[in-house]
Amino acid sequence: MSDMSKRDRSEILKRLLGPAEPELSCDECFEQLDRYVELELSGADADAAVPGMRAHLAGCAACDHDHRSLRALVETEASSGQ
Ligand SMILES: [Zn+2]
Repeated sequence: MSDMSKRDRSEILKRLLGPAEPELSCDECFEQLDRYVELELSGADADAAVPGMRAHLAGCAACDHDHRSLRALVETEASSGQ
C-alpha cells in the first residue's frame, strides 16, 4: 500500500509540473512573436503575457534566431526617432 501511494504521488507531481512550463509550437511562437517583442521592449512582463514563449525560445534555435532579429529590428526602428 505504501508503494502504491508513492507511485501515485510521482504521477500527480508529474501532472502538476507539466502545465507549469507550457511550451508553444513553432507556429504559435511565430504568431505571438511580434506581440512578445513589443511587450519585452516596452518593459512589460512579456513572459506572463505569452506563457511558454521563453521556454520555446530556449529550446528552439530557429525561433530564437527569429526573436533576436525581430527584436533588433524593432529596437532600431524605435531609436530612429520617428
Ligand atoms: Zn520554434
